[in-house]
Formats: sequence, structure tokens, C-alpha cells
Amino acid sequence: MPDIYLKKFKHLSHFTGWLKGLPLDIPLDRPVVLKPNLVYPISWKSGVVSDVRLVGMLIEHLRELGVRSITMAEGPGLGVDAAEAFIQSGFSALSREMNVPLIDLNKAKRYSVKWYDGELQLPEIFRDAYYINLPKLKTHLNTLVTLSLKNQKGLLAHTDKKIFHRNGLHRPVAELLSAVRPDLTILDGFLALEGDGPLAGGRKVKLGAIVIGTDPVAVDSAGCRLMGIDPMEVEHLKLACEMGLGSVEPVIIGDQLKDCARIFKRPEMELLRIMGLHNQRTPLACSMCGGAAREGLISSAKKPGKWVRNLMPVLWQMAFGRINFVYGREASLPKDRQKVIAVGDCTRHLKDDPGVIWVEGCPPSPEMLVVAFGKLRKRRKCV
Ligand code: SF4
Repeated sequence: MPDIYLKKFKHLSHFTGWLKGLPLDIPLDRPVVLKPNLVYPISWKSGVVSDVRLVGMLIEHLRELGVRSITMAEGPGLGVDAAEAFIQSGFSALSREMNVPLIDLNKAKRYSVKWYDGELQLPEIFRDAYYINLPKLKTHLNTLVTLSLKNQKGLLAHTDKKIFHRNGLHRPVAELLSAVRPDLTILDGFLALEGDGPLAGGRKVKLGAIVIGTDPVAVDSAGCRLMGIDPMEVEHLKLACEMGLGSVEPVIIGDQLKDCARIFKRPEMELLRIMGLHNQRTPLACSMCGGAAREGLISSAKKPGKWVRNLMPVLWQMAFGRINFVYGREASLPKDRQKVIAVGDCTRHLKDDPGVIWVEGCPPSPEMLVVAFGKLRKRRKCV
């Protein structure tokens, strides 16, 4: 098999026909485990999470080939309600309709493997299975892009996810590929995401491109180029290449990269400014801490009757002042300290500073953020 296949589609319904023509050598005598990307509760139509249509077509194809055992398995992000993520993405319905189990990896039985930083706990279900990784094509606020290597983070136990962030993400994400390697990767860029994704917003892009290959580094390097990004700019891809885990100069069969690519808006790696809200994150911050503030605002807006007293100070500050959300390991206080909400256990060292409202948790729940909003009127509080 060559390194990768690339195809640009006008209609996703043509995906099955293309798939049938590829010599993928999927074994029929092993269970197949599909690992979609369902990071938090949002519809597949957003471009943030896996597309149920594509995964449904893949399941049909596998069954036609004669694969007897198919399972979908995903471990949504820290602090996320997995059942809600499965429902809102449309995957619970897909699981029912196609009679394919959907497993929450956050509750999975695990086995230990040795790796560069001691031991890692991986889900038992992937041990002897033929593993198909199904990442989305997205830019990412922490790691510039999130593709197949980063999608493997969903395999981890919560404790290991936190260690990944403490270790700066890129090295552990590259090393994870030595510990567990997909047999096949299908990178879905039909509906992609650009800008400050995936939890801080981002904008859906109908790119139409899908990449398939057995070398995840090759697939991701093509994914980067589809977004107008040099793969060597992405530290974990550069590391994976240097470690000999794959090629960033793959042979591509199918459509030409130049005919499929588009320059994606990059994530803003410094400050996000939305009216009076200023997000100040460190490079070691998890997306979940940043997402908690956004989710808190959304849940306040959805239940105004319940949260109106807490929401009003935020709206007032947005209109006439400034609120700084600070999060991530090694976070420091901004120069302008009018109103600071320090989010998550990583910012515990800031909690005694005058003017700081500290929100405990790793990550804190959106509800904790809403409670913190209500404290904005007061000078200093911990939540
Ligand atoms: S507190 Fe937030 S940034 Fe720190 S490890 Fe937990 S989730 Fe990540």
C-alpha cells in the first residue's frame, strides 16, 4: 500500500464508492475498533466532531467486506459528560441504528505499557483489534492542528490526560504513537474547522477532502498541507518524524494536494478578545479549562431564569469593563487586573492575590464558572 490516498468530494455520498476501490487489506478475522473524535457535546454538523454519515458508510462497507465484530470507542475530554457527547454528536443514534456498540473509554478496562515517562494505561479493547483512527481535520488553539496523532489522546485515562498537559502535549502525543499505533487512519476533512478550535469557537469549513493511509504521520502531514500549514511547524509531527515513526513527505495517490488545499485561519496563540473578555492561556493549558468559561456562558444564556443574577455582572463587565480569564500551568496575572477569574487547579498559586476569583477543579465544571461570574461584583473570592 502506498503512503496515503487523497480525494476531494463534492458530495459525501461518493465516499463509499471510493473506499470500495482502495486496496486496504482489512482483515476479516479480527475485531475492528473505530476511534471517532467526539471531544465534547456538539452536533457532527459543527465540523468539530466526527461525521456520523462517514462513520455509518464505513461500518456498512466493513460489514459488506465480511467483518463480523465492529465497535466504536471514544473517551471524551476531561470534565465532559461522555453520554451527552455521544447523544449530541449523533453517535448514540448511529450506534442504535446500526447495532454497533459505542464504548466510553473513560470507563474502559486498561492494560499497562512502558513508555518514555514510566507506564501508560491503554484500553484493553485496542490490544488485539484492527484499530481504525477517525480524526477530524481541525486547527487547534494548543497544538496548532489536531489530526490523527492528537486524536489518540482520547484513548487515555483521565490521569494520563492531565500528565500529557503537564508535559507540554507535543512530546507525549508523539511518544503515544510508539505505544499504540492505528492500523488505518481515515482523516475526515469533508467538514473541517479553522481558527480558534475546537472549544473556543472556530469556524466550519466545507473542504471536502478525505485522506486515508496506514502511516499516521503521513496522513497528518497531508492534513497540515490541506490547511496551508507546513507539517514541520507542528512540533509533535516534527518529533514523530525525527523518532522514525512515519514520513512527512508521503507518496500520495489520488487527487493533488494543491487542488484540495485551502489556507485555514490559524488559531490565535496569544490573547482572544471577544468584547471585554480576555482569555489568557499558557501553552500548557488544556482546552477543557478554556472551554469551561465558554460553556459557562452558554449554560447561563440557556437558563437565564436560573443564572440571571450571575450573568448580569459578566454582561456589565463585557460592555463597560474587562474580564481576564487566566488558565493553564505556570499562569501569571495580566498587567491589567481589573477583574481576574483564575480557572482550574493549575492556577491555585494565584488564588490569594487580591482581585482574583479562583475557580477550583481540573477542569472546573461550567456551573462553577457561572458561580464565579456572580462573584464579579465582589472584590475577592474563591469558588
Ligand atoms: S486545571 Fe485545567 S489546564 Fe490545568 S491540568 Fe486541569 S484541565 Fe488542564
